[in-house]
Amino acid sequence: MSRVFNFSAGPAMLPEAVLQQAQTELVDWRGAGMSVMEMSHRGKEFMSIAEQAEADLRQLLAVPENYKVLFLQGGASSQFAMVPMNLTRDNKRVDYLNTGSWSKKAIAEAKRYADVNIAATTEAGKFTSTPAQSELNLSGDAAYVHYTPNETIQGVEFPYVPETGDVPLIADFSSTILSRPIDVSRYGIIYAGAQKNIGPAGLTLAIVREDLIGNAVDGAPVMFQYATHSENGSMYNTPPTYGWYLAGLVFKWLLDKGGLGAMAEINQRKAQALYSTIDNSGFYANPIAVESRSWMNVPFTLADSELDAKFLQEAGAVGLKTLKGHRSVGGMRASIYNAMPEEGIKVLIDFMQEFERVNG
Ligand SMILES: *Cc1c(COP(=O)(O)O)cnc(C)c1O
Repeated sequence: MSRVFNFSAGPAMLPEAVLQQAQTELVDWRGAGMSVMEMSHRGKEFMSIAEQAEADLRQLLAVPENYKVLFLQGGASSQFAMVPMNLTRDNKRVDYLNTGSWSKKAIAEAKRYADVNIAATTEAGKFTSTPAQSELNLSGDAAYVHYTPNETIQGVEFPYVPETGDVPLIADFSSTILSRPIDVSRYGIIYAGAQKNIGPAGLTLAIVREDLIGNAVDGAPVMFQYATHSENGSMYNTPPTYGWYLAGLVFKWLLDKGGLGAMAEINQRKAQALYSTIDNSGFYANPIAVESRSWMNVPFTLADSELDAKFLQEAGAVGLKTLKGHRSVGGMRASIYNAMPEEGIKVLIDFMQEFERVNG
């Protein structure tokens, strides 16, 4: 058996060591006589798995005491609704930064519950840059400011954390969480679907400042209130137990690798190698403003789009999979989250240079 280098945007690669550990523990988890999938979420075995995962995540991100870590379902897309439902009881005014496809979806959902002010948009430039702090037209009295630190489809990311004063900053971190250290105290809520850089699909993480819990709008479904999950340790109903367990194995793997500072160095090196290959060729191009280029999602086009199919076919033949760009952007996209080894980047770069030599 040989594993391929999978450049999918999500669900994405998981660390091979994690998969192997899960395999070893699959049928009989550490002498429990059953798999994690078969355990009661309230039993002592699963409780120990759940608590360890939360403790390890708190250590990785240095989550302050006054934040709850919630292990939810429904994907980041459910958070698009949960955020306004939980934060606009007393003030319907909300600010959103529009920097790409996921921002747009978050905005469309928020408009169903709140009075949305678009504080900045880069749509006219086809989402190839991020707005500067000085370009943000913040309301000042909004219930919150929402932004997307890394736009997975466009491959554009903020090189700074927006300053919002006393207004809580809410961030959809789905495609960049755990790629480097972040200062959690700058945020009101951080949320992320797991399937990019945390674990398998089906688990959604939310890190919520305590004062933002318990203020849901009237009529908000019980399952859509942060208070429900916070008061019940994310076990109001059956949580996604296996995803929670696998995320825990990923957190241990990250700690073993030296934590998020060490990951940041590796991730920056991986992204730089790929961008410099693109920039130093006359054949490949990336449209994103240099300071806003994503470390996680690297879109690129070929000089002649007629060659796209050939590129994908030949890349696939040498084990470089899922490089096709999102249908809305075209070209290629290499998603290079934590689990993509540096060797995968090297093999991709060698392939790209050889493809250019033969076809360029
Ligand atoms: C993938 C993605 C989403 C959607 O996540 P789901 O878990 O599928 O709902 C939202 N935002 C960003 C930034 C993403 O990358």
